[in-house]
Amino acid sequence: MKHRTEEKVSATQGTFDVCVIGGGASGAGCALDAQLRGLKTVLLDAGDFASAASSASTKLVHGGVRYLEQAIKSFNLEEYRMVKNALRERLYMLANAPHLAHQAQFLVPVYSWARAAYYLVGMKLYDAVAAESNLFPSRFLSRVETLKTMPGLKARGLRGAVSYSDGQFDDARYDLALIETFVAAGGTALNYARVTGFERGDRGMLASATARDELSGETFSVSVKKFVNATGTGADKIRRLANPMLAARMRPSKGVHLLFSAETFAGTDALFVPHTEDGRVIFAVPWQGRLLVGTTDEEVTPATRMLVTKDEAEYLLRQLNPYLETPLRRQQTVSGMAGLRPLVAAGHGQTATSRLIRDHEVELDSSSGMVSILGGKWTTHRLMAEDTIDAVQREMGGPVTPSATRQHPLAGAAGYDKGFSKDIEKEYSLPADVAKHLAGKFGTTALKALQLLNENPTWNRRIAAGLPVIEAEIIFCIRYEMAETIEDLLARRTGAQLHGWKEAIEAAPRVAELLAQEKRWGPGRSASAVSEYTTRIASFLNELGLNEGKK
Ligand SMILES: Cc1cc2nc3c(=O)[nH]c(=O)nc-3n(C[C@H](O)[C@H](O)[C@H](O)COP(=O)(O)OP(=O)(O)OC[C@H]3O[C@@H](n4cnc5c(N)ncnc54)[C@H](O)[C@@H]3O)c2cc1C
Repeated sequence: MKHRTEEKVSATQGTFDVCVIGGGASGAGCALDAQLRGLKTVLLDAGDFASAASSASTKLVHGGVRYLEQAIKSFNLEEYRMVKNALRERLYMLANAPHLAHQAQFLVPVYSWARAAYYLVGMKLYDAVAAESNLFPSRFLSRVETLKTMPGLKARGLRGAVSYSDGQFDDARYDLALIETFVAAGGTALNYARVTGFERGDRGMLASATARDELSGETFSVSVKKFVNATGTGADKIRRLANPMLAARMRPSKGVHLLFSAETFAGTDALFVPHTEDGRVIFAVPWQGRLLVGTTDEEVTPATRMLVTKDEAEYLLRQLNPYLETPLRRQQTVSGMAGLRPLVAAGHGQTATSRLIRDHEVELDSSSGMVSILGGKWTTHRLMAEDTIDAVQREMGGPVTPSATRQHPLAGAAGYDKGFSKDIEKEYSLPADVAKHLAGKFGTTALKALQLLNENPTWNRRIAAGLPVIEAEIIFCIRYEMAETIEDLLARRTGAQLHGWKEAIEAAPRVAELLAQEKRWGPGRSASAVSEYTTRIASFLNELGLNEGKK
């Protein structure tokens, strides 16, 4: 990516064919699709790229076993199609960024033969719906095989497990890879640029947007032929800025995750808990050296805070612990996250958010010309983008050209293979965990970060003991990935914050020093950045009741 100031200048020059508002999965996907079709495109995000739902997901590339069950039980063809599409999209997502997404085995432990039969039939149906897109066939694992694969499962009464295939991915880095690929294709992307209003041209159609630079406070204008609203849970606000007569459509629902050390539940496969007290499912998945447990599904109220509450943590553990030999405790939490699903209302608004279909909708507002992409999920972001840009081209009156994103390797994918981590470990004399981390986060783009060691060999230092993140990676993300804050670096660029709040707090002062050095911050700015960051992490710890003993 280019420097942020360069991107800002480019955003204000000339007229763009398309402006995508929002830089999460939907917006990044739309921007890439539009640019690859030859439309001159600019993307603006009010915060950091992927700073909302798109970095707070369960990180599954999946059709959704639960959605298939829901579709069959309620004879819902729409939901069935959504699962089928997602299962096909799963393949593209895995193939386009093999460093960021991979297939995984999921186990559903069973404690009765009737349940074993039920889940085996269910998973065979899941395979059948995937058809030629299936990753590997589901099967029944004996009790012995199950305990060998997942030794932490509660052994008493266990009959075995049904195994099935789905994918896992690094959501924040996938988003950044989409944006990087978009910029490499000639697009312009700007973070911390909030769209605050529109100006109209011919027949009342939107012709330009006013945006506020959230870092400097300046406002600027962007001239555009067509706007795409891809703002997730913020979609109603933008829809109504374009046309105040529109009714609200979004029904945001909050979901949280907790992370534990991997030793708390050994194994390399993911655990699927098929039934919770509120009729949902939860997952416990090994993720980058941690165990990721989630998620919840609660309709947003004015009191909702983007933290993980004690009650939410206790709920997750209450669902998971009956399956574990050694129950997990809230106090063992090393990190967590909260996000809002951009669900679309299905009309009357009485349905629980957990039952709303995760399908997407492309909405065209004919009085302003705004195209909004509503709902959907990470796994279907590419298809959502294809549908959206088809609609944009139709509205522009020209031909609808084919989308080029099905087989389009993302940044870091070219030349990447499973041996890449070992190659850089040897070539740059890196510790194995650092090489694995760099390869997994950046793919072959890691080479560019490692070239910085020629400029300063001491940048091979870790930013904190216990983290596989080295200083060269931080410098690279500041210079070439538009990282502006400590949180941009620790939460989304490097994933250090998910690895552990403790390690992230330890790393914050050094990260602030590197930011200050690269961005020529004035005196005092790095201290206030550290204080702001640690306050934010402390609010997570307080809400979870993890600071109680320290008061
Ligand atoms: C708890 C949870 C678990 C999930 N798990 C999975 C999963 O395992 N697999 C899966 O496929 N999907 C999953 N999802 C769904 C998936 O994460 C979301 O569907 C997807 O990330 C939504 O992307 P988005 O771009 O539409 O929205 P967001 O990621 O929310 O992005 C919207 C962006 O718009 C920007 N914006 C808002 N207002 C403005 C403005 N005025 N100007 C400029 N920018 C603006 C915001 O800053 C934000 O970055 C999960 C979601 C949640 C919450």
